[in-house]
This record gives sequence, C-alpha cells and structure tokens, in this order.
Amino acid sequence: MASKILIVEDEPALLDTLEYNLSRQGYHAVTACDGQTAVSLARSIQPDLIVLDIMLPQLDGFEVCRILRQEMNVPILMLTARDAEIDRVVGLEIGADDYLTKPFSMREFLARVKAQLRRVRLDRSEAQIVPTEEVERYSFGNLQLDVTRHQAYLNNQTLPLKPKEFELLLYLARHKGQVLSRDMLMEQVWGWNFSGGSRTVDVHMRWLREKIENDPAQPERLVTVRGVGYRFEG
Ligand code: CA
Repeated sequence: MASKILIVEDEPALLDTLEYNLSRQGYHAVTACDGQTAVSLARSIQPDLIVLDIMLPQLDGFEVCRILRQEMNVPILMLTARDAEIDRVVGLEIGADDYLTKPFSMREFLARVKAQLRRVRLDRSEAQIVPTEEVERYSFGNLQLDVTRHQAYLNNQTLPLKPKEFELLLYLARHKGQVLSRDMLMEQVWGWNFSGGSRTVDVHMRWLREKIENDPAQPERLVTVRGVGYRFEG
C-alpha cells in the first residue's frame, strides 16, 4: 500500500510541486494549506509522514507539531525558511524528526521523505522481532539504559531525556569506546547525512552532558575527540 503523506504548506506553487513530485513517486499525497486543517486531516487520515511548513495561517508549524506529537507517533519533516527557525526546530526539540531549509532541491526533499519512511518501517519491523518479555538493558556504573522502556536512569532516578537524546545516548552506549563521527551519528540517529547536520549532533550532545555528566564542561562519559567526533566511555 502506498505511504500516505500529508503536506502542509501555504505557498500554492510549492504545495503543488511537492504534491506532484510525491504522487509521481507513487506516494498518496494529501494537502493542507493552514495549521488547523492540517491537525484535523492528520487525525482523520493518520498519515505515515507529515511535511510541515513553519509559517502557516491560523496555527503555525510549531503549534501543529506540538499538538500532533501528543497524539500520534508520525515522523514530521519541517520546512524552514530562515536559519532562525532551524534554531527553534533543533533548539527547542519540538519533536520534528528532520528539517529542510528553503529553498531545497526536489531530489533532496524526496531523499529525506524516503529516509523517514524507511526509518519508520525499520522501527516497526524491529518492534515485531524483539519478544516483548525480552529486556535489553545497559549498565554503566550509576547510569542505566532500559531499551525496552526507552528510559535512562541516573542514580536510580529517571532521566528526563527527549526521544532523540535517548536514541543518541543508546547508539553511543552500544558502541562504547569507539570514536563516532558526527556524520555517522547523524545518519544512525536521525536517519540522514549531510554536512550541515553536525550542529544538531553537537546541540544534543550538550544537552546530554548537562543531564548525565557531573561536570558538563569536563565530560567523563561523552568525550569529544577533536576533529573527529565523540566517544562514549562507560
Ligand atoms: Ca509558509
């Protein structure tokens, strides 16, 4: 069955182009040109992916993302027009899975769409393979990761990690002692790879350090390897 993609964009020309290109790739594209319609459409059609512009009439993209995040686990690809918006997408971690800055090429757009849909499918098939009673846990001194629950604990207290922070920490933990480049982390945790993405990794790394390091300025667990990337030390 074709993946359902909800496109939310108030520039008619761009909306048409996106719809045309997605349909041509065999996706089932549904469109909305304001935030309110986007929310009700998402509820009724339960899309496999949402492409969401930020500056929209009625509710803006941040608001739409916030509302839908509480209700469904759909990947959201944000379209941003300004660098300042990227800071909000990345910085506030509103729950978007990926973002593209306008103007973007159709090839890049389709690649991102494909990457998000593939990631969801992988998540689902992994979820089916792992028996529910099997508990995967990692323990590093006072730090524990419970993969099944998607929870981390420090000194037996639940760590308030956002989904991407947990995924990043888990990936690092599974590759303890290895030096991992930002591009590698970007691809493995966010599902795509481009040179401008390193800022996303660095921002998340900073948040993780603030949560799990005794002294975030002198990290002992999330170590920077200069010029290369990061290494997790148990
Ligand atoms: Ca707009």
